[in-house]
Amino acid sequence: MSYTDLDTPMRTIMTPGPVEADPRVLRAMTTPIIGQFDPKFLELMNETMDLLKYAFQTNNKWAFPIDGTSRAGLEALLCSVIEPGDKVLIPIFGRFGYLLQEIASRCNAEIHTLEKEWGEVFDPEEVIEAIKRVKPKLVVIVHGETSTGRLQPLEEIGRFCRENDVLIAVDAVATLGGIDVRTDEWCLDAVITGTQKCLGVPSGMAPLTYNERIEKILKARKKIERGLSEFSSNSRRIQSNYLDLSQIQDYWGPDRLNHHTEATSMLYGLREGLRVIKEEGLKARFKRHKLHEKALVAGLEAMGVALFGDTEHKMTNVTCIKVPEGIKEEDIRRTLLEHFGVEIAAAFGPLKGQILRIGSMGYSCRKENILKVLGALEATLIKYGAKVNRGEALQTALGIYENVDQLAATV
Ligand SMILES: *Cc1c(COP(=O)(O)O)cnc(C)c1O
Repeated sequence: MSYTDLDTPMRTIMTPGPVEADPRVLRAMTTPIIGQFDPKFLELMNETMDLLKYAFQTNNKWAFPIDGTSRAGLEALLCSVIEPGDKVLIPIFGRFGYLLQEIASRCNAEIHTLEKEWGEVFDPEEVIEAIKRVKPKLVVIVHGETSTGRLQPLEEIGRFCRENDVLIAVDAVATLGGIDVRTDEWCLDAVITGTQKCLGVPSGMAPLTYNERIEKILKARKKIERGLSEFSSNSRRIQSNYLDLSQIQDYWGPDRLNHHTEATSMLYGLREGLRVIKEEGLKARFKRHKLHEKALVAGLEAMGVALFGDTEHKMTNVTCIKVPEGIKEEDIRRTLLEHFGVEIAAAFGPLKGQILRIGSMGYSCRKENILKVLGALEATLIKYGAKVNRGEALQTALGIYENVDQLAATV
């Protein structure tokens, strides 16, 4: 079944990431290397920044990738903005909220958290009340919490932060390019994403954007740094060299001050992934994710599989199902992978063993994949003795696709 000399099998990846990379992206990544000061390379950087602004729905001056996976972007933003003792509010509703807390704690922030049961999201009022109480410098929050499949509404929180001079940074790793993320309209000061989810690119970069409110802090910290001796222990300089946003900004800015060596092949891939997004259009892309979610959910329900979590705040690109009684979730995943080449995801923390997570992100989010995962899951559940409504799932999903085809044909 392998198609490369690396003996790597072809998989249908229906997890919340990494997902299948768009073939156009993989081809782009084999483009020959050019030097980082080649005028063509500078064009490539500029085009990527413009395309990122489109994807982030922002007019911010700054939008560029950090080299490293998504958490490199989260860490770059947090370690560049948080100074020791700064109050940071982190509402946590799943695994990735804890990651934000962990990173912020390494920046020696004074951390205040709010926690929700896994499977739910915060009422914006709860977060606003906490902001009034804590008066933080920064709120850091996850948009799409892939560990539970829930989507946190951000607009009201963003507006409140702006009106009250509090900064807000958002982990949109799992949502950008698949679910609406309105950086400017929702008053988000910084938004961070990753490449291996809805952008349809392999993992290895963390695109982010931030506005002048964040830039002001970067500038102030730089001034302090210049005024101090290089070896002062009393420094509020940004601890990390690699993740120092002010230096990386200078590298992406018009002066192109050298920082690291840009990850050339990743950049080819990211640009191509972003071009695909622009060609498809964000609206059409969100609609596509919704359509395939509809077919998937309808198919699962017809099969008789129970969904997990608050339905009102479900992410369109992650669908969590309860593991049927008496079956081990590892057996389901192993059978899907071994016999069908289909990968779905296990769960973390309190949900481990209780739910399975099906992703429908980016290039993986297409009809043949949805139908394949439904068919393979039904066969697997039957194999392990679960009670399912045989044959219903695929017919229901097909019905949804046919309806849409007919609608399109009549328009
Ligand atoms: C996948 C994911 C991350 C992962 O970060 P990586 O460094 O790319 O592994 C962070 N946050 C959320 C919400 C995610 O879904």
